[in-house]
Amino acid sequence: MSSILKVQGINKHFGGLHALNNVNLDVEQGKVHAIIGPNGAGKSTLLNCFIGRLTPDTGTVDFDGTSLIGLKPHEINQTGVSRVFQTPEIFTELTLLENVMIPALAKRDGAFKPSLWSSMAGETEIRDQAMNALSEVNMGGKAGMTAASLSRGDKRRLELAMALVQNPKLLLLDEPTAGMARADTNATIDLLKTISGKGLTMVIIEHDMHVVFSLAEKISVLAQGTVIVEDLPEKIKGHPKVQEAYLGG
Ligand code: ADP
Ligand code: MG
Repeated sequence: MSSILKVQGINKHFGGLHALNNVNLDVEQGKVHAIIGPNGAGKSTLLNCFIGRLTPDTGTVDFDGTSLIGLKPHEINQTGVSRVFQTPEIFTELTLLENVMIPALAKRDGAFKPSLWSSMAGETEIRDQAMNALSEVNMGGKAGMTAASLSRGDKRRLELAMALVQNPKLLLLDEPTAGMARADTNATIDLLKTISGKGLTMVIIEHDMHVVFSLAEKISVLAQGTVIVEDLPEKIKGHPKVQEAYLGG
């Protein structure tokens, strides 16, 4: 059992608010690790510390032998970390294929150069990669559609394709099923199971306990900025501290 992501002693303040309080986290290679906790517990803040959107006040984040602290988001992306945000960040005026080609080009070139817009059509290898990623999320048939026309669930799947096309070593997902109807949620669970089955390590923040217990192999419970329990799913169910955190939150 080796950990691919090791987080130690993370503290983060927003003014007088102690949003993360000495957070430790060990994510094992190839596993799905869920972070759960009441609204405002600090889950998104923690994820933002992994991807360089926020810098923790103290603490270390080591990924696959590299310290991520102080690296810019695109540098962290280059180390093999891709993410899916709570709110989809897609280019609504572009086609699905173009949306997925952009992060593929950004990964290859270190950053997306706007001058490449005009030459995207000539990027046959990148286009093939983008088509494969769209097929992986069962949207190959919609490659030519404009992203604006997608349903909410399809937008989330598009964002997943935009992360997968980068062939990441670690995929971070912030509430991947938020706002989805049950059928869409179940389809997403199946999709993530398939992806995880290929060996991709995932950290997933999720509110929906059905999703958490369908996917997670390890769970960290965050409450008011503190990890109160880290354990196997079967140990988390009915755990008194966890129930207290949810009822109290
Ligand atoms: P969660 O994702 O678990 O719902 P967040 O990480 O979004 O929680 O937020 C944790 C706490 O930090 C909340 O009280 C939130 O209001 C606060 N917070 C988050 N981001 C900021 C920010 N940029 N500035 C000030 N306060 C913030
Ligand atoms: Mg959040």
